[in-house]
Amino acid sequence: MKILIKNANVVSHSTKGIKNLVVENERITEISDKEIEGNFNLVMDAKLKTIIPGLIDIHVHLRDPGFEERENLETGLRAALNGGVTSVGVMPNTEPCIDNPYLVDYLSLKSEKLNMAKLFSIAAVTKKREGKELVDMVKISNRGVIAFSDDGDPVEDPLIMLKALEIAKKLKKPIINHCEVKELSKLGYMREGFYSHYYDIPGVPDITESIMVARDIEMARYAQSHVHIAHLSTKSSVDLVRQAKIKNIPVTCEVTHNHLLFTDKSISDYSPNKKVNPPLPTNDDHLALIEGIKDETIDIIVSDHAPYTKEEKSVDFAKAPYGISGLETLLSSLILISKNYDVDFSKLIEKVTYVPARIFDLGLIGDVKEGYLADLVLLDPEKEWLVEEKSLVSKGKNTPFLGSLLPGKVEMVMVRGVIKILGGRFTWN
Ligand SMILES: [Zn+2]
Repeated sequence: MKILIKNANVVSHSTKGIKNLVVENERITEISDKEIEGNFNLVMDAKLKTIIPGLIDIHVHLRDPGFEERENLETGLRAALNGGVTSVGVMPNTEPCIDNPYLVDYLSLKSEKLNMAKLFSIAAVTKKREGKELVDMVKISNRGVIAFSDDGDPVEDPLIMLKALEIAKKLKKPIINHCEVKELSKLGYMREGFYSHYYDIPGVPDITESIMVARDIEMARYAQSHVHIAHLSTKSSVDLVRQAKIKNIPVTCEVTHNHLLFTDKSISDYSPNKKVNPPLPTNDDHLALIEGIKDETIDIIVSDHAPYTKEEKSVDFAKAPYGISGLETLLSSLILISKNYDVDFSKLIEKVTYVPARIFDLGLIGDVKEGYLADLVLLDPEKEWLVEEKSLVSKGKNTPFLGSLLPGKVEMVMVRGVIKILGGRFTWN
């Protein structure tokens, strides 16, 4: 199969501007400013449209095994493609949890058979994510996991964290920590501040997060082992990471697109779809997160896709579970963030393509470059789409974007040179 994509506006780390590209078998084989002659099985004219590398969303909960009423591998990986995400990093907080090599194999084999978006497994740090006993990190690492994390919960015990970091260093894999001091977070349901008082919802102080961010930076310094901090949400955390990077401490971090577009003020309607952990930021925290994106303190953007059933989210704000379904709104959000906060769109794209591929050592993906795998998305940045339950492929309809018109329609998605979505529709049915 040989495909020519003509006149595309390419936004990527290595290639920028109007180009013609050839995809042959599974790779990008030619990129040129000039017209490309030859015989092609398919020619696509991408005039006025944008070509980006397929998104790499490294923080995703697919709920399989154990919570398939919320999502399963098929609906989750399909939702990924629908959102222009061609690679996902899946978190291990399933039931049973991904704490042994056999469950890593289960995810790999099942996702390969589905042949939709690519799945990269993240294994638990401790058995059953109980924080007590380390998993067999060496054995699990050999099965191809990209990182270790007890996400959903922090690794609380510093000695366990230290031992995990020492092993992870030899394996050259990061530990992703969900930074939360549970004794403090149980005080409330949204970020403490003016609006938690105004809306009369108990607040969670920002030190809930930053105390553990500070600890983990010290852990990374002492062990000289890579800590990746999940879903950063406060100014204080951003400041700590900025200082750590100046000192060359091996720390990286992420923020979710929801935390870049919503704040505590948005909770005026008490919608459980705005209940997320960490909580939506205050205005000051939000400004610091945007600044952290601009000055490269924040390395990558993720969805923290956390689907729940309608029943689970159809309760009071206080009783609702934490989480937002996010795979399908990530890409459109980047367009909005770029417009609303004057952030270069190509910088945002790098934070969901090139940078995660480098941080997690994912091979030749995340860039538009000759020789790279042809994981590509054709996007119409001007076209809008309505976020409604029926337009979301994920089982999780729990998103604060419901009812919103978002910019950026995914028109074509290609994984390893095979077209999965064309004209906005899945190609296999
Ligand atoms: Zn988390």
